[in-house]
Amino acid sequence: MKELESKLKEYAEYLKEIEHYRTAESLMYWDMTTGMPENVAESRTETMSFMSLQQHNLLVGAKKQEFIKFFEEHIDDLDLIHKRMLTEMKKEYDKQKIYPEEFVKEFSLAAAKGQLSWEKAKSEDNFEIFKPDLEKIVELTKQSIKYRGYKGNKYNTLLDDYEAGLTVEKLDVVFNELRDGIVEILNKIKNSKVKINNKFEGKEFPKENQERFCIELLNTMGFDFKSGRMDESEHPYTMDMTNKDVRITNHYYLNDFTSAMFSAIHEGGHAIYEQDIPDSLDGTGINKAASMAIHESQSRFYENIVGRSKAFCNYLYKEAKKEFHNQFNHVTKEDFYKIINKVEPSLIRTEADELTYSLHVIIRYEIEKLLINDKIKVSELPTVWNEKYKEYLGVEPKSDKEGVLQDVHWSDGSFGYFPSYALGNLYGAQMLNKMLKDEPHIYDEISKGNLNSVHQWLNKNVHVYGNLYDPSDLIKKITGEELKAKYFLKYLDDKYKEIYKY
Ligand SMILES: [Zn+2]
Repeated sequence: MKELESKLKEYAEYLKEIEHYRTAESLMYWDMTTGMPENVAESRTETMSFMSLQQHNLLVGAKKQEFIKFFEEHIDDLDLIHKRMLTEMKKEYDKQKIYPEEFVKEFSLAAAKGQLSWEKAKSEDNFEIFKPDLEKIVELTKQSIKYRGYKGNKYNTLLDDYEAGLTVEKLDVVFNELRDGIVEILNKIKNSKVKINNKFEGKEFPKENQERFCIELLNTMGFDFKSGRMDESEHPYTMDMTNKDVRITNHYYLNDFTSAMFSAIHEGGHAIYEQDIPDSLDGTGINKAASMAIHESQSRFYENIVGRSKAFCNYLYKEAKKEFHNQFNHVTKEDFYKIINKVEPSLIRTEADELTYSLHVIIRYEIEKLLINDKIKVSELPTVWNEKYKEYLGVEPKSDKEGVLQDVHWSDGSFGYFPSYALGNLYGAQMLNKMLKDEPHIYDEISKGNLNSVHQWLNKNVHVYGNLYDPSDLIKKITGEELKAKYFLKYLDDKYKEIYKY
């Protein structure tokens, strides 16, 4: 037993070493996006890739193999947490080790080239610039599936990277139901007589007020400013170093304060999850979120389920009016609620409303599946893209910049990532259903701006476990059921029926 204890300690120290490099690299990235001097740009990427290489070497080194061997020999003495630790370390090690060195180099070179040509293609609005690099990336991605093997659909291997245990066979059922359900609601809204106009148009919201307002909101949510901070960057994001240092960024538009407001709430949801991961999981490697989609479920829970609810709107309206009094002239609480819940099919995913957002994700999922299974070629992407947008959303991109070139993900080979964005909505709504059973009066508290019970429930049911369970097991543990689309669809229908009176 003594031997096991000392090995666990040794492993914790080894993880600490990796964490030091990761922390340094993350901080450099944060600095790069929030205020780094221009002239340091080139050497900064060099320093960052050095830090990244150090982590990689430690992760696949002989030391790791020794740990795995030792813990496997002592598996019967391991508790639940350390058994999970072993499963995760083996999975990570196998994934890193399976590719020949040449392949890893080729992939990272293709990804680096892909990111550059994607940027150029997007800014010049010309898919042809990106096409050869994307073809290479798709080819290498298919090659990676060959190395790793697959069960059922080839795309399953990619899905598993972001959502352990999820398969195309399961996801198709959920996403088809979701797609048809959303399209049905969308058609009812299109036929509705209710028209919402944005009464904030043409008004200005000073940055200082927006920033102060967002900080206040984060405090209300329970974001701990002693273990985090908020800064400004081009695109909002959350960066966790440890649970004691979680940074979020925001971006302010002078003519639209709701953008920064919802970014703060969204990133705040991610950040609170990270801050809540318990210290007791330190030194195990499972002191992190359960998956990308569970992470997204937390940010979207705060942003949409709480942030865009009628109850919270009661509080938000009062607080926002205090901060921006003149801009709220002739805007009633009902106007405000409708403005932040307006449905309008659009071309750009990141600007989509709560209802149509998931359709943007489903389109990418369907296209990725076709590509990976050799059903379409890279050259056909713009056409397939535009057809799907027309079919599901009723809008058609006039250029590839606002179509197939809009997202960065494919340029570095992140296939399989997109579904997480929509899965987050589904997980969130299924959690809400259970939360309301446990805490029937929660909306009364929310309407007063008291989010303590929401935070406590999410902490107790989700955050506290870190990565102890696969997401499919976690949702079953919380709600007693597998992931289903029906809870999110019911939530959407209840909400929009009332707003659009269909
Ligand atoms: Zn997010």
